Amino acid sequence: MVLVFSDVKKNGLELLAKARELADQKGDKVTAVLIGKASGDWAGDYIKHGADRVITAGASMENFKAEEAADILEAVVKEEQSAVVLISSTKDGKELAPRLAAKLDAGCISDAGKIYYQGDSVIAERGVYSGNAIAIEQFISLPGIITVPGKAYDPLAPDPSRSGEIIQKEMDLKDYGSKIMDVQKMKTEGTNVEDAEIIVSCGRGFKGSDDLKLIRELAEIIKGNTLGCSRPIAADLKWLSEDHWIGLSGHKVKPKLYIACGISGQIQHVAGMRDSGVIVAINKDPDAPIFNSADYGIVGDLYQVIPKLIDAIKQKM
Ligand code: FAD
Repeated sequence: MVLVFSDVKKNGLELLAKARELADQKGDKVTAVLIGKASGDWAGDYIKHGADRVITAGASMENFKAEEAADILEAVVKEEQSAVVLISSTKDGKELAPRLAAKLDAGCISDAGKIYYQGDSVIAERGVYSGNAIAIEQFISLPGIITVPGKAYDPLAPDPSRSGEIIQKEMDLKDYGSKIMDVQKMKTEGTNVEDAEIIVSCGRGFKGSDDLKLIRELAEIIKGNTLGCSRPIAADLKWLSEDHWIGLSGHKVKPKLYIACGISGQIQHVAGMRDSGVIVAINKDPDAPIFNSADYGIVGDLYQVIPKLIDAIKQKM
């Protein structure tokens, strides 16, 4: 039995694709768990995307609380005798997974990209040392808890003819030691780099924040409109908000086109954008590491290259 939990629907749909693949290999079922208030037909959509059963619980929960969610999942994993538990590597998922593993006395592998069976063993591969090496890990007992970052898998195409069970689970939740007193939304510009199909990204190759108008124009003309950046641009210089920050400690993105302008391509940046479809790099240093990750590289001064690129695209269009 493969169990899926995510507090974010799109991540849950991605996990279901992997869960379905693993379950089909062993003739197993896929159960997805929804905790708290589910918007729209979340459970129905899970079934269309590969779940055999959806268990909803804790609908009265005002806010996600890892202790409560861990209790709910512990009960479900025991009832369902789940062998593999896939949890999204969201902020809440990361807080939940190790708690659940401790309760079940189970192993927990974080941020796995590849997950597969080798015989009856469950294997998970994850990047370590900022993506410079891959650790291949195996559970020595089951259930095994695995957290999975967003975009690791593409959701299956929805199949409206699929049917499955939706079960509402009533649970008496304990009075926990911690209380959520207040929830404050993070201030953002509303930029969602994770879902963008085209990202034009900037780094310290720019001399001043006013110069970002160059990438704004480039982004507009290729109908990208989503700007990304390296860490120093958001964290140190604060020319763009943290919504735009891409990399190991920023957002992980997978656009069809990623244009890196004046970004050196240190591993911590590349870790967040290496899965992009086509990577174009503009850098004046021919030895810049970004060129090792790029499909197309332009060696030159971005202050000359970008205006020429804009003109060339305008002419083509
Ligand atoms: P630089 O490394 O200074 O590179 C600037 C580049 O611009 C150079 O290659 C230069 O040749 C080029 N350039 C200069 N002038 C021009 C010009 N006129 N035309 C064309 N090219 C020009 N970084 C991230 O981005 N994301 C992360 O999530 C992240 N997480 C980190 C986590 C940890 C734990 C640590 C230690 C570091 C992290 N970093 C991260 C920082 C990372 O190591 C690099 O320092 C950072 O990515 C460098 O940013 P940059 O490429 O913009 O700047």
